[in-house]
Amino acid sequence: MIYIFCAPSGSGKSTMVKHLLTKYPNLFELSVSCTTRAPRGQEVHGREYYFISVEEFQKRIEHNDFIEFEQVYEGLYYGTLKEEIERIEKAGRQVLFDVDVKGGVNLKRILGDKATSIFICPPSIAELRRRLEGRGDTSPEMIEKRLAKAEEELSYKPQFDKVVINDDLQHAYEQLDTIVDESRDLRR
Ligand code: ADP
Ligand code: 5GP
Repeated sequence: MIYIFCAPSGSGKSTMVKHLLTKYPNLFELSVSCTTRAPRGQEVHGREYYFISVEEFQKRIEHNDFIEFEQVYEGLYYGTLKEEIERIEKAGRQVLFDVDVKGGVNLKRILGDKATSIFICPPSIAELRRRLEGRGDTSPEMIEKRLAKAEEELSYKPQFDKVVINDDLQHAYEQLDTIVDESRDLRR
């Protein structure tokens, strides 16, 4: 089973993905996307993202290298390489995706029953702001852009297989564990 994680930025997607990677270290691997944005904080090329130029991204589009890509923010492109999925599956691991809501809906459409799409929902927009500000790695201008986008992103929630409300962190982990346990039982 492939898991697709989507949420407005700051809702706790990375936190949820990290929980699964820690709980099942040899079972899952996160698909590393390409992006044209600059690295933030301690981000490393090839670990959080493949940080590439707009020209390189354009070339990759022309070569049909992406299973999906989006201009998530104005002028900033993000895309999932087909070869990334092949690499993880060859290593015998299950793929985790952390993508924007449109990318998530597209991936679910392409992957069908092979994937469970999970929407991570923030308790409120005010809490979303607190989390983005608290993370301390995003400029005030980008925080405003992300919050402005959050309302629209929340409207995609009904298109997802599962919704996890990330209010209390432990409770959110439990909701996620239940989803994973259920889908693993189903496949057995
Ligand atoms: P995303 O990947 O969706 O942008 P992150 O996982 O980076 O979001 O979470 C944004 C910030 O909120 C981080 O600083 C994270 O530690 C914090 N956070 C995540 N979940 C919770 C929670 N349930 N309660 C409080 N803070 C949280
Ligand atoms: P950030 O800049 O905070 O790392 O990511 C911004 C947004 O881009 C997040 O919602 C993230 O999930 C999304 N994103 C990351 N990689 C991809 C991708 O390959 N495709 C799409 N569609 N969105 C992505």
